[in-house]
Amino acid sequence: MVAATVSAKGALRWQGGHPWIFKSDVSQRPDAPAGVVRVTDARRQELGWALWSPMSEISLRLLDRDPGAVIDAAWWHERISRAITRRAPIAATANACRLIHGEGDGLPSLVCDRYDRWLVVQLLSAGLEHWRPTIVSILDEVAGPLGILARNDAAVREREGLPRLTELLAGEVPREVEVREDGVRYLAAPWTGQKTGAFLDQRENRARVAQVARGRALDCFSYHGSFALHLARRADHVTAVDTSADALERARSNAALNTGCPIDFVEADAFEYLRAAERAGTRFETIVVDPPAFAKNRAAIGNALRGYHEVNLRAMRLLAPGGLMFTASCSYHLTKPRFLEMLEGAASDSGRRIALRELSGQPLDHPEILSIPETGYLKGALLEAMD
Ligand code: SAH
Repeated sequence: MVAATVSAKGALRWQGGHPWIFKSDVSQRPDAPAGVVRVTDARRQELGWALWSPMSEISLRLLDRDPGAVIDAAWWHERISRAITRRAPIAATANACRLIHGEGDGLPSLVCDRYDRWLVVQLLSAGLEHWRPTIVSILDEVAGPLGILARNDAAVREREGLPRLTELLAGEVPREVEVREDGVRYLAAPWTGQKTGAFLDQRENRARVAQVARGRALDCFSYHGSFALHLARRADHVTAVDTSADALERARSNAALNTGCPIDFVEADAFEYLRAAERAGTRFETIVVDPPAFAKNRAAIGNALRGYHEVNLRAMRLLAPGGLMFTASCSYHLTKPRFLEMLEGAASDSGRRIALRELSGQPLDHPEILSIPETGYLKGALLEAMD
């Protein structure tokens, strides 16, 4: 029997609801290639089954606490089907969403996003790779896609000793897929776009912003324009700012797919744009600030906080009296309390009276499990300039 023995500390992590056991807590490593292993504690007490990654710092990822469980195709079928069924309500308003959010769905290191009739997956651990044919065939059966693409180009695969590549696993997947989301249409780029082709995690926030948008609107860090397109439904004029010419080119094509007010696409550094707008005395009734993750790791948090503070403070200053601003952070390392603290600091330095109207977290299809901090990263706030 292939088994791993873990320390008391490792076992405690599982008891606390976290699926990972680190290398340093594996006292006896399984003599086996990557795959599924039985896990026991030092007293030979059976703790369940886990994905085993021989090269990774995260050696074990809990699949099932039941020592009597059988990890076979039927087991994967049940977990995958349950995750997909949870997303059913989204189909009423959008044809793209995350079907599997890894640890958030009890399927560690597996990501699967749906773009209309196509799926994009990420297999992010060596243990999971072992199950690739099973997973692909179940996804094919349960979701019935026209094609499945693996965006296995994520950097974390290196830590698992896995190659980084984008590869077609089944059928055909087009370069661009039209996403319909709460009345807006945009093209996602599954082969080359950021993440798996679009920022699906902001879907509910975009819908919320569309409800409250008005007047002159500004979308900072616009990418392919998804917030801008929603703003354009109610605003009089939208300015969308991003540094990426490629993203803006797609944003222009996306605007052509939709009706709404005119959108100006500006290729510029958002920090510089905001400073220049302040000097020029420009004001906006609605602003969106959705920057990339400034903190890629814990050590970078200091610089990242300065960046978030600066960009939020500048945006607050541009709000017309009564203006609304939606601001987000997708840095896992910027925790919810620190996000709020950062906004408090920016508001206080902005010289404006800023009200906190709403706080938001992750949408239905990106479940954040409270005992697994790594499943949560997105925070948002809707703010209002009181005068
Ligand atoms: N709001 C988008 C996602 C934004 S992702 C959506 O909902 O789809 C972050 C974007 O910020 C990327 O498109 C990246 O090109 C852009 N970016 C990064 N640094 C920037 C900067 N300093 N100024 C403007 N845009 C920047």
